[in-house]
Amino acid sequence: MKAKQKIYLDNAATTYVCGEALQSMMPYFTTDFGNAASIHAFGRDAEKTLNKARGQIARAINADPSEIYFTSGATEANNWILRGIVPYHPSKRVIVSAIEHPCIMETCAELVKQGCKVDFVKVDRDGIIQVADLIAKLSKPAAIVSVMTANNEVGTVQYLNTIANLCKERGVLFHTDATQAIGSVLIDVKEMKIDALSLSAHKIYGPKGIGALYIKKGVRVERLMTGGHQERGMRAGTANVAGAVGFGTAVEVVLRDSSINNARIKSLRDYMIMQIEQKIENAHLNGHRGQRLPNNANFSFHGVEGEGLLMMLDFAGIAVSTGSACSSGSLQRSHVLKAMGVPEELNQGSIRFSIGRNTTKQDIDYAVAELVKAVKKLRSMSALR
Ligand code: PMP
Repeated sequence: MKAKQKIYLDNAATTYVCGEALQSMMPYFTTDFGNAASIHAFGRDAEKTLNKARGQIARAINADPSEIYFTSGATEANNWILRGIVPYHPSKRVIVSAIEHPCIMETCAELVKQGCKVDFVKVDRDGIIQVADLIAKLSKPAAIVSVMTANNEVGTVQYLNTIANLCKERGVLFHTDATQAIGSVLIDVKEMKIDALSLSAHKIYGPKGIGALYIKKGVRVERLMTGGHQERGMRAGTANVAGAVGFGTAVEVVLRDSSINNARIKSLRDYMIMQIEQKIENAHLNGHRGQRLPNNANFSFHGVEGEGLLMMLDFAGIAVSTGSACSSGSLQRSHVLKAMGVPEELNQGSIRFSIGRNTTKQDIDYAVAELVKAVKKLRSMSALR
């Protein structure tokens, strides 16, 4: 049986491409298809277009266009900044938060295999960096500190200025993964003393497969991709001109409309949180209640497994995410909730709802009604209770 409704509450995983971004990209698939590295007019036009998009990304974070390098997304940007700096620093040491995205965590694991050292900064129960722990970890030399601006699972937004200042005082580079935050958190790399920053287009109504790494002028980073002179010799590979154009437009639109969209999305989120807390016993909101992304509501339900809940909601036509991943029949707990000290019985049932530009109050009402039914059913079946 097919679900009657189709409700997408997984905008932190990816978004649709907005009309303005899509329209802006179209000519670069058909008439203006030149390779930005070609010398002829087609190539020169493509290069001009690419640099216009670079300017749009730069403006969004108050960087200089020459500090923006296009990548295939934030995964590549995060790989690049760590692999391009840590092994070459005398300390060979990197400090990251314990709740980073897997593309930082797994890159750190690879760096360890290569003889580098990694230290994980603790977070509190809300997912906020423990400043005392960061200060302690900064007492020994390190190449770079990497802390995400906002967490993709629980939505907690860090106090970036504090972290950046601590790094600056000690002469340690500071990188932030702003993939989930751009458009919701104001970012000014100069004012905030950020040395490197990762972005992705497909979380902000731009296309998939394009992102950027901002590298502050003067910061030396080794190349990750080799085989061409693109991106001022720093990132080989034919430029994704259409993608960059869509990314540039998406970033402009997200910032232009941020106050209206974020206020509406935040009020829907607060309504959803209130409804869930009123209607479901033992529902625990994960992440900081105030210091969180406007579109994120992450809940654990005592006695309920996230996977089961996700599947029941999917059956009702509602798309959400769970922090835990089911691999070969065994549930892997979320490293984010674990680092936050969420008890094990609550770390099996976390569900992330992420609201988008198209979400309506009716969508939330339907999702909450289905959630109430699903939690009730799963609890009645659960051996954990
Ligand atoms: N960092 C964060 C915080 C993310 O949420 C994601 C996407 N889930 C990534 C990095 C990876 O981005 P991309 O899909 O562009 O590789």
